[in-house]
Amino acid sequence: MYITDLHNHTIFSYDGSDTPDAIIENAINCGVSVIGITDHQFTIGENLPTYYEYIQHCKIKYADKIRVLCGLEIGTRPAPPEALPKATSRFDYVLFESLDDARAMDLYEFLEWRRLFTCKVGLAHTDIFKLGERYVLDMIRLMRDNDIFWELNTSGNYPYYYDFLTNEKKQRAVRDGGICVSVGSDTHSLAEYRKKQIRAANELLQRLGIPMP
Ligand SMILES: [Zn+2]
Repeated sequence: MYITDLHNHTIFSYDGSDTPDAIIENAINCGVSVIGITDHQFTIGENLPTYYEYIQHCKIKYADKIRVLCGLEIGTRPAPPEALPKATSRFDYVLFESLDDARAMDLYEFLEWRRLFTCKVGLAHTDIFKLGERYVLDMIRLMRDNDIFWELNTSGNYPYYYDFLTNEKKQRAVRDGGICVSVGSDTHSLAEYRKKQIRAANELLQRLGIPMP
């Protein structure tokens, strides 16, 4: 089975406790095919080139066992540094986090930011249905038109994940809307790695025929 996990934190994040190597090796042992490292932009700060180079090194080191992707998680308050879109142009993707949070950046401001990035852009742990209600718009269509993927966050901290597992109406809306959906464990410590949930989320998306980014 093809298993992806595109949301993981390492010691490059203030709240990550494992090295990228440990995260990747655990993923290999769990049968994951694609692992994405997505440390917090605000913790990495000036060290972005070092981070990027280290993940590139991991890509090569583990190339025969797993596909490693270099991502970055971006908080929206305070707004990201102006130079970030250019600085991440060689990254595989970036994740904007928690756009449904009351303190987050406005949706339209986010769309302006999104257009500045040339790598893939996703929305991490965001309830897009709730956001669509708040702005009274079809969030799935907006994401498709702006080439933004959605993350199904399996950490257990976000109710929208549990809802999506069983809500056939929402599953159909996402599938018919034609957006890509990633699976993210949002791991901060390997002690809490939720292998079963990651597998189940990948299985669900594949069964529904929802493409991954
Ligand atoms: Zn995260």
